Amino acid sequence: MNAPTRGNVVVTGTSTGIGRAAALRLASEGFSVFAGVRREEDGHALRNDAGGSVEPLLLDVTSAESIAAAASRIGDATGGGLAGLVNNAGVAVAGPLEALPIEDFRHQIEVNLIGQVAVTQAMLPMVRAAKGRIVLISSIGGRLATPFMGAYHAAKFGLEAVGDSLRQELAPFGIEVVVVEPGTISTPIWNKGADRAKEAREHLAPDAEDLYGASLDQVEKVARRSNERGIPPEKVADIVLRALITSRPRTRYQVGLDAKVGTRIRRLAGDRLMDRLIARATGL
Ligand code: NDP
Repeated sequence: MNAPTRGNVVVTGTSTGIGRAAALRLASEGFSVFAGVRREEDGHALRNDAGGSVEPLLLDVTSAESIAAAASRIGDATGGGLAGLVNNAGVAVAGPLEALPIEDFRHQIEVNLIGQVAVTQAMLPMVRAAKGRIVLISSIGGRLATPFMGAYHAAKFGLEAVGDSLRQELAPFGIEVVVVEPGTISTPIWNKGADRAKEAREHLAPDAEDLYGASLDQVEKVARRSNERGIPPEKVADIVLRALITSRPRTRYQVGLDAKVGTRIRRLAGDRLMDRLIARATGL
């Protein structure tokens, strides 16, 4: 990697979407980026598109061995200093909580919550050495919960709590922890989630299909529409950059009008009113 001007940063989940946009933006702004990918070809594609320094890093956030190998590689390459860790990798598992296979629920939590904590634990000594920052990509879905996305919300609400605890635990070391809460962003996560949910429906018990089939049709419609209507992932990348370089970052940043408005309404509205507003907005 080229000599960093702003320092070294790790971004997880950079094959597509927000992680990819963040990796490219940070590299173009002078960071040396270790870009987490699960397939080598994704790393090559990313490096080809990068205007700055991007080093693909094989990293599956659900594998302890993969995380340890990645941390060791970064330590060797940097001499042990990280200006930033951007925990971004994630999946979206949809389905009714009553019938969602428990292994699917577990997988959601494993990737979007436990994986973030495991990567943070592994990288923290290097973040501490450089008095770096930790960014957690949460979601408006970490502040308010919609039907048929319970597993996803459980992971994101959990990540919000992790962000609060970690921020307080690391304040004495001068390490900032910033939670980023995007609204609807146009990335492959929506169609991947919809495809996965469609596949899962084929194995749904017949009575669950009777109970939830119509709602699940609507969930799929909403997901695919979200992909079309979302704002570009570069908007989140801008905020990730700000979270890493601004002299005094906020503890939370919402990205997109829907995230900003949604957070305010959630603060003011009671549960029943919130349920009605969500039903109206989603048709669920
Ligand atoms: P994408 O599907 O485009 O990107 C997800 C990334 O996570 C991919 O690079 C994927 O890699 C990676 N990933 C998945 N599983 C693992 C794993 N086990 N280990 C390492 N990497 C993994 O989605 P987004 O860019 O939308 O999502 C990024 C983050 O932003 C997620 O945490 C998501 O919850 C959050 N978010 C997204 C919003 C949106 O509207 N899109 C809104 C709010 C938050 P691979 O290609 O190998 O699967």
